[in-house]
Amino acid sequence: MDIKTFAVIGAGTMGNGIAHIAAASGFDVILIDIKQEFLDRALKTIAGNFDRQIKKSAATEADKAAALSHIRTSLNLDDAANGCIVVEAAIECEQTKKEIFKRLNEICGPEDILASNTSSISITTLAACTNRPGTVIGMHFMNPVPMMKLVEVVKGQATSDETVATVVALAEKLGKTPVVVNDYPGFVANRILMPMINEAVYCLMEGVAGAEAIDTVMKLGMAHPMGPLALADLIGLDVCLAIMEVLHSGLGDSKYRPCPLLRRMVAAGQLGRKSGKGFYSY
Ligand code: NAD
Repeated sequence: MDIKTFAVIGAGTMGNGIAHIAAASGFDVILIDIKQEFLDRALKTIAGNFDRQIKKSAATEADKAAALSHIRTSLNLDDAANGCIVVEAAIECEQTKKEIFKRLNEICGPEDILASNTSSISITTLAACTNRPGTVIGMHFMNPVPMMKLVEVVKGQATSDETVATVVALAEKLGKTPVVVNDYPGFVANRILMPMINEAVYCLMEGVAGAEAIDTVMKLGMAHPMGPLALADLIGLDVCLAIMEVLHSGLGDSKYRPCPLLRRMVAAGQLGRKSGKGFYSY
């Protein structure tokens, strides 16, 4: 299948990154969100990220102008019908995503690929909201999207081999390295990463060490580029909590129970970088 146009649903942390790399790779992009201010902020972020790349000589002013000219924005989900591939990157809420996939099923062509960037929600469950589960797939980009090479390609119970092959080729065209995995809670990336972050929050809550000490141990001791608490702030504590809930309910093992401190910080609106405060202040 020859893909020319991306529809990206959700213009937050991940959606703007996905729009950025798709437009930079020459695809037309329609970026959709529920409020104009979120779309405006996304375009500003994309321009700012290009400016940083220009400073490092990793891109030119012409690249920036060309990419931005490929991006249109919309407040109407039905404009996703203009994409050959839809990448859903709305909030990590199963009900929200199910409603989006139900609508996509009604408005998109039967050949169009319906991908979700979900971190943990079952692709098979989202596919079951449609009458064409063979074209539904996970396309799990990593944060920050323009920098990170991996795309975890998640094969749902009914995802066709043709859909997998198309998405693998597409990820490569975006300059990424795809890895195909099966549809179990948290897939591979978050099945391993989130319990580590959750355990770091337990260490902080129980007073084993302070946030900087915990992060330093993991950076210097395990050669991680970022400590788990700084990484949680980058990902968003609400996203981390939502993924732990999916692991806990989907795998049914108490080892995945979210740390009470993580719950308390999310309840207080301390979501990490995006809210200005998490384990660190920004
Ligand atoms: P975010 O909160 O930064 O952005 C979500 C955006 O979706 C918001 O702008 C919101 O207004 C919009 N939205 C909500 N409901 C919508 C709807 N019905 N239609 C259109 N837009 C809607 O979240 P994020 O961090 O970008 O995460 C998006 C998805 O990507 C989630 O599924 C998350 O699990 C996944 N993900 C996140 C990360 C990360 O590090 N943050 C990494 C990989 C995957």
